[in-house]
Amino acid sequence: MMRLPKFDYRVPRTVAEAVKIVGDVGPTAQFVAGGTDLYPNMKRRQQMPQTVISVMRVPELNQITGEGKTGITIGASVTLTDICEHPLIIRDYPVVAAAARTISTPILRNMGTIGGNLLLDTRCNYYDQNYEWRKGINFCLKKDGDVCWVAPGSSKCWAVQSSDLVPVMVAIGAKFRLLSTLGERMIDAAGFYNDDGIDYLKKRPDELLVDIHLPPTNGWRASYQKLRRRGAFDFPVLGVAAYVQMDGDHVKQAKIVLGGIAPSPIQVTEAGEALIGQAFDDDHIQAAAEAAYVKARPLDNTDFVMNWRKQMAREYTLRALQSLR
Ligand SMILES: Cc1cc2nc3c(=O)[nH]c(=O)nc-3n(C[C@H](O)[C@H](O)[C@H](O)COP(=O)(O)OP(=O)(O)OC[C@H]3O[C@@H](n4cnc5c(N)ncnc54)[C@H](O)[C@@H]3O)c2cc1C
Ligand code: SF4
Repeated sequence: MMRLPKFDYRVPRTVAEAVKIVGDVGPTAQFVAGGTDLYPNMKRRQQMPQTVISVMRVPELNQITGEGKTGITIGASVTLTDICEHPLIIRDYPVVAAAARTISTPILRNMGTIGGNLLLDTRCNYYDQNYEWRKGINFCLKKDGDVCWVAPGSSKCWAVQSSDLVPVMVAIGAKFRLLSTLGERMIDAAGFYNDDGIDYLKKRPDELLVDIHLPPTNGWRASYQKLRRRGAFDFPVLGVAAYVQMDGDHVKQAKIVLGGIAPSPIQVTEAGEALIGQAFDDDHIQAAAEAAYVKARPLDNTDFVMNWRKQMAREYTLRALQSLR
């Protein structure tokens, strides 16, 4: 049985208290929400905070306010089950509820939060293993080693951003509010993820993710398609988020964002360009799907053969766009 290492556990009741604790303790502290990602990582000795600060008892982080016309604000500790079941999210942001519904299992969605999902550690077949397994290969760059087993000549880690909600948030133009003792800042989801499997977030360790701001629903539509081996309980090994806004018969704005194939979500600008100003018809959808295929370069560090996952970028982009017509 894998055991958790020893750690101090703190339970603040306000955001001010939460950021003060992390500010006082310093980089050996880490926030936890549902713990469905952090605790397994601690058991595998991949993340080793000495102080764990729960964000589940802070009322401000558990709220959903607003509505589609004005935009919705979702507290970082809102559970994935609440995202799936919230009437306003289902009505005004169905793509967010639908993507959340594909995450793991009902029990994990009861525990896991939207904030934890958006800050999920990157994944790799050589990393998501217990300590002894990783020791057997002399570890790897991401933790305790000095070689990347996926690309041995590389000085970069290629572990994969594997959240189902991340590509959706980038596609719909969500913003994240971060708070620390140094102040507050808003950051676009699109600029929040680094193309680096180790340093994968723009967030500093002392920053608390307070809430997620979804933009007003002024006529845009979005969809999400997920590739995984099983029908449930599997991380995405490709996720395609599609966003379209129409102006009469023509596409005014379009975005295709790929998740699950690189350390950060990939916005395929060429796919958007293939659609913008055009009729939303088969030919232009096909051109956008082709652009997604060209841009997708999955590596051999998750499930399925990488060339097949690349082919699926075309197919899943087609499906995501066709579902919006
Ligand atoms: C078997 C299994 C299957 C899974 N399948 C999927 C899947 O299909 N798709 C998918 O997207 N995910 C999947 N997950 C990953 C995970 O369960 C979810 O992403 C979940 O939403 C994580 O949320 P959490 O609250 O449990 O995060 P936690 O584990 O509590 O935290 C995750 C990270 O976020 C940080 N954090 C959390 N809240 C804050 C905050 N407010 N401010 C600052 N930092 C914070 C933590 O420090 C940690 O680094 C799976 C996990 C398991 C164990
Ligand atoms: S991509 Fe390379 S460095 Fe990163 S986790 Fe995998 S093997 Fe390790």
